[in-house]
Amino acid sequence: MQTHLNALFVLSLAITGCASQTAPFNGGRWVDLTHAFSGETLYWPNAERFKLEMVFDGTTAKGYHYSANRYMAAEHGGTHMDAPIHFAGGGETVERIPLDHTIGPAVVVDVSESALSNPDYLIDVADLTRWELTHGRIPDHTIVLLRTGYDRYWPDARHYLGTAERGDAAIPHLHFPGLAPEAARWLADQRQIKAVGLDTASIDYGQSTHFESHQIFAKRHIPIFENLAGLEPLPATGATLVALPMKIAGGSGAPLRAVAWLPNR
Ligand SMILES: [Zn+2]
Repeated sequence: MQTHLNALFVLSLAITGCASQTAPFNGGRWVDLTHAFSGETLYWPNAERFKLEMVFDGTTAKGYHYSANRYMAAEHGGTHMDAPIHFAGGGETVERIPLDHTIGPAVVVDVSESALSNPDYLIDVADLTRWELTHGRIPDHTIVLLRTGYDRYWPDARHYLGTAERGDAAIPHLHFPGLAPEAARWLADQRQIKAVGLDTASIDYGQSTHFESHQIFAKRHIPIFENLAGLEPLPATGATLVALPMKIAGGSGAPLRAVAWLPNR
């Protein structure tokens, strides 16, 4: 009997040890990085906004409750992903993006001090190399998140986008920070990143006319996450990002549910 008990004890130790190694999301918390989709959700001035239409809400003739809606929106608005095909002919559409590019360790480069004082702020190579001086080289196979602090203005289009006007005529009036093309090239060529994301409406700043940072990442098969929210509590290193887009076949982009896991320190 003693032998049996010992064997059981060893077995239970083995199971416990095994469980602690295979339960990666213990000892920390999840943070939501997603703006909810609603009639207030911000879209590019010439893009279709989110619509939720009630199909049925109430008690059916058979006596049970039933609620269902239908929705419609442009791909590129709210918290969303840009697939490479958005700016590269022949690039991956949403459903073809490897899961490995949507889940993984994230680093957060906080430029909010500069970005919040200049709506045309361009995050440059110097911001990235300065981050590396403090935190070390951006590791390979990392997702780089850029924090401008602009999510604090959501859903106020005048402050978040620089204009509340709608239509093509509003596009020249867009003012919000983004990533300089040289910095995009540096991240794409000098570092091995899986994806990039930020808390403004576009990886290229509001005044961009040729969307070069989009083009650079798209050609390198790097997806982009835009209109992220709530990056503030994320540490510079150590968070894990899970950013899963709606799997739209043939999509150039898609609504995204982005969350991050923050381990206890
Ligand atoms: Zn987009």
